[in-house]
Amino acid sequence: MIADKSKLVGRGMRDGAKLFRNWFGDLSRAAEEKQGAAYVFVLGSMNEVFKTFDMPVSFPEVNALQTAIRGVSRDYLNEAEDFGYSPDICGYVKADVALQLRGGDHPMGKVPIPNIMVATNGCNTYIKWAEIWERMYDAPMVTFDFPGTRGTSIKSQPGSEDFAYEAKYVEGQIKELIETCETVTGKKFDIDKFREVLGYANRMSEMWDKIIKLNANQPAMFNALTDGTVYLGMANGFRGTKEGAEYFDRLHEEMTYRADNDIGIQLKSEDGPYGMDQQFRLAFVGVPCYPIFSRFNNMFTDWGGVFVTSSYLWFASGGTCAGFQYDLDNPLESFAEGQLLMVREAMDSMFHQALMLEDTAKPFGLDGVVYHPIKSCRTVSTGLADQRRYIAEKIGLPTLFFESDLMDPHVVSEAQMKNRADAFFEGLISRRQQATV
Ligand code: SF4
Repeated sequence: MIADKSKLVGRGMRDGAKLFRNWFGDLSRAAEEKQGAAYVFVLGSMNEVFKTFDMPVSFPEVNALQTAIRGVSRDYLNEAEDFGYSPDICGYVKADVALQLRGGDHPMGKVPIPNIMVATNGCNTYIKWAEIWERMYDAPMVTFDFPGTRGTSIKSQPGSEDFAYEAKYVEGQIKELIETCETVTGKKFDIDKFREVLGYANRMSEMWDKIIKLNANQPAMFNALTDGTVYLGMANGFRGTKEGAEYFDRLHEEMTYRADNDIGIQLKSEDGPYGMDQQFRLAFVGVPCYPIFSRFNNMFTDWGGVFVTSSYLWFASGGTCAGFQYDLDNPLESFAEGQLLMVREAMDSMFHQALMLEDTAKPFGLDGVVYHPIKSCRTVSTGLADQRRYIAEKIGLPTLFFESDLMDPHVVSEAQMKNRADAFFEGLISRRQQATV
């Protein structure tokens, strides 16, 4: 029972910041004690397996984006480019290369060297990125191949023969990972502990799914771009842990309280009470502009724009948003099925997000969609122009399409972007005025 309910408001952000510091603290400790960590990517991280073995886990994408938020990404990019990596490739890769060259030094602490590495086909860059680690470190690599959606809607469905084959294929790869973890740690795989971990992951997935849907409320309780990025960090780093399950239980409690009491996210501190300044409900497609993270967000909130949802929330949580519930009586088989569905959901959110937006537009009361393709990431950015046209034509939503980067401040033309954002809002205002005439 919470004595003062008003303390609920903003608790998710406060708790998230604290857990995030703890996470980096644990990584730094592991680095100092020369323990090693599992290097994984957010799509198909296999966090549940690593948590069963109590292994520290490092997400290079999260480490990289933190260098941009902290204003030092260009230093890392320079170092990797001086080392020979092209300016054209994914900025996350280069930040990670520089971090490895610096012996793990990161603005938030120290990242251990890997004692096991996992590559997946969630993004084509992952495979080449993992090859860099292979050249640098003498640690085992396990590669996952997840059967994805073919075309726009050709995918096996649970209950079908094809799905059973695909899940079995993933299960074989999971068994290989488990055996490798046993060799690396010298511990036997404990199926009961795995069950407990999956139980925590179930609680998180159920709540994350509900929280994303709750933001259809008017006013929106969180900004999918800014607050959403903190929640994503928790969904990745703490999936399968008690802290992670409790974090999402508490976040859901906060969001439910806020929805019941119409306490929306406050967009600008100098403006009136919570929620009063939300004017336009937007969806964000792509990856955030981390080098100017808050100023980028202000381009929208200054006009009363709030990101009520984003494709980033869907794919960057590795599919946790699908709300999949593992069957604890059948842990390994169910884990394989869940991973297949979750990674596929995450890939679909990158490649076919227009179809998901179609389903979201009405319930979320969208006024517009902001597309932010970036130089670094062809995986997410390719095809966005076509998807934008589809959304504009099929559901008639106004769209803004502007490019920059997720890591490199040199390719962020802030003044031009602001002009484009201003013009977008002027269009939204005039559209609204015309609708009332
Ligand atoms: S999804 Fe984009 S940003 Fe992430 S690793 Fe792949 S190319 Fe880089």
